[in-house]
Amino acid sequence: MTNDKGQMTKDKGQILTIPLIHRAKANENQIAIVSREGTFTYGDLLQKSAQIATQLLHTNATLHSQRVAFLIPSGFDYVAVQWGIWRSGGVAVPLCVGHPRPELEYVITDSGASIIIAHPDFEAVLRPIAQERNLRFILTSEPLPEATELLPELPEIDIASRALILYTSGTTGKPKGVVTTHQNIQAQVTSLISAWEWTAADKILHVLPLHHIHGIINVLTCALWAGAQCHMLPKFDAQTVWQRIADGDLTLFMAVPTIYVKLIAAWSAADKAQQQKMTAGCSQMRLMVSGSAALPVQVLEKWQTISGHLLLERYGMTEIGMALSNPLHGQRLAGYVGQPLPQVAVRLVDESGNLVEPGSPGEIQVKGPGVFLEYWQKPEATTKEFRDGWFCTGDMAVVENDSYRILGRLSVDIIKTGGYKVSALEIEEVLRTHRDIQDCAVVGVADAEWGSRVCAALVLQPGVNLSLEALRSWAKEQLAFYKVPTRILAVTELPRNAMGKVTKPAVAELFV
Ligand code: AMP
Repeated sequence: MTNDKGQMTKDKGQILTIPLIHRAKANENQIAIVSREGTFTYGDLLQKSAQIATQLLHTNATLHSQRVAFLIPSGFDYVAVQWGIWRSGGVAVPLCVGHPRPELEYVITDSGASIIIAHPDFEAVLRPIAQERNLRFILTSEPLPEATELLPELPEIDIASRALILYTSGTTGKPKGVVTTHQNIQAQVTSLISAWEWTAADKILHVLPLHHIHGIINVLTCALWAGAQCHMLPKFDAQTVWQRIADGDLTLFMAVPTIYVKLIAAWSAADKAQQQKMTAGCSQMRLMVSGSAALPVQVLEKWQTISGHLLLERYGMTEIGMALSNPLHGQRLAGYVGQPLPQVAVRLVDESGNLVEPGSPGEIQVKGPGVFLEYWQKPEATTKEFRDGWFCTGDMAVVENDSYRILGRLSVDIIKTGGYKVSALEIEEVLRTHRDIQDCAVVGVADAEWGSRVCAALVLQPGVNLSLEALRSWAKEQLAFYKVPTRILAVTELPRNAMGKVTKPAVAELFV
């Protein structure tokens, strides 16, 4: 049975094909991905993801929402594997290419992944984890089933089922797995497609990490949903990005403020003739977007003089997708994140749970079909973050001139650095395991390039010296690179209030 959009349905009306796959079939001959590996059409993507799905399924009819963790550099294989997992009925759990073993192990165990797919570059770190836990281990270099061996039919996928788990830091404990369904993803993507008017004629340069919502949803999935071209760089590099922009064929660019700061520095270091080419490349684009952290007004202004673009700033979160955006056409206000996006309801609420008076600050709460399903296997944590069906973001904002302005986080223990969200408490836990550290307090300190820098005040064991370099090389083995403190300060004791609780604002003062 099909509905009026031509999608497969069952009697109850639930939709049984992944909309993204369904749409790709209409664009088979169009270019989908351009990456280090080559140029690939939507047809190539459908073919390879069907081979991967067949490989994953073995003799099973469906993966029944088994979690499949995968670690693949940005490019065609990443996308083919992600689609293959979805087409076989699995839940995709992307791992971060920059994570050390303990972080990878945590995500693999917490998500309960039963299969790991790895690029050969990561075999050395991942195979032992798979062996110790008796997990199926697949390398992307292994031969795939031939076209003649493909399953005649892949399983039907209910779009209300779980699709993706992304790990995000909170104020308590280790990172939590944010689960979104195919339906949540559809809502998040279609909201942006209509607000920013994506079309099949778009070409976007992808420079963002692929274990985070910004890179996965806003750039990759929106592009593929629209039938557009996604040009994927294996990692961000300012020179390469400027070269691609100067080629003059791109229509869209999206990044975090730290990336714009690095691009500004590279532009400033270039000679006049190069600068003209870079600027001319920007003028070919129709839209440049910033988000995932506050965009300093000076950065927005400098970028405008370089590129001619007034960056469109938007606000969102792993749990909710994108919620607020400056308009594509109307007036964009510097320092503001605009209005609610299509399909998203936003309200500001005071400490007693009442709606705030116009012009007063309050916590941003969000409702809509893009809001996530649950924190993976943490029902209490999930319930705690909702009030009457509204998700409580923990971000404060105020509405002025009909536009939202973000005031900051309710918790000082959440730090946004380079667009990554990190938990001060999680970093402290790890630092306390260092044999030279008695106690510590981690804070975010404002920084023009990174938004906030991770800084640690350390109470060291008596008579011990610990250099920043030594601490960083130790911490990099335990923590993702963006969680590793970039400044440390040895103190005899941590500032505390009368209750004995560490006063984080006083700790932050130590670094100013
Ligand atoms: P993540 O889930 O990693 O994308 O982090 C979401 C958090 O990033 C939000 O809760 C905000 O604290 C912050 N954030 C995202 N976009 C913006 C923005 N435009 N301005 C300020 N903070 C932002």
